[in-house]
Amino acid sequence: ATEREIIENSIRDVKDFPKPGIVFKDITTLLNNAKAYGVLMNHLYQRYKEYNLDYIAGIDARGFIFAASLAQMLGVGFVPIRKKGKLPYTTISEKYSLEYGVDEVEIHIDAFSEISNAKVLLIDDLIATGGTANAAAKLINQAGASCVEACFLIALDFLDGQKNLKEITNVYSLIEVK
Ligand code: IMP
Repeated sequence: ATEREIIENSIRDVKDFPKPGIVFKDITTLLNNAKAYGVLMNHLYQRYKEYNLDYIAGIDARGFIFAASLAQMLGVGFVPIRKKGKLPYTTISEKYSLEYGVDEVEIHIDAFSEISNAKVLLIDDLIATGGTANAAAKLINQAGASCVEACFLIALDFLDGQKNLKEITNVYSLIEVK
């Protein structure tokens, strides 16, 4: 099997979660499969080792896992972008709209302050409409850094979320769901 197949085959489809009609991409079956998790992290390491990144930012909560793993492999810092009300220090926040209602993500105001104009890779497990990732990229830029690429393990292409990533020029997704 190819790297992509090993990764793709380790992701489980869960029907009707969190509500009827939704097929949820469950990455816990990738994480508890050491081979698949290793293949994924090695793939990301090979891609990003020449980027000269300063930080990797991960989105609450599944994005944390991949972002933190890769940050250690590359020898750079990890920065969490969290749902509202979770970060203890002074934050910058950004609202974004959902199908029904709004949500809000936050970053610590000094997350990138050690390095001026830091190059940041943003990671999440999945892009659906793109609202979350776009708000996260806005926060990275507002915190004085530069979001050089957004990386997703899975892209739900039928939702066309990439067109909503106005704050992000480069996007990489490993598995595209048509
Ligand atoms: P968006 O803002 O519509 O792009 O939604 C993306 C966010 O929802 C990400 O943080 C994902 O973790 C989460 N999400 C939406 N659908 C799924 C899914 O099927 N599996 C895992 N996460 C999902």
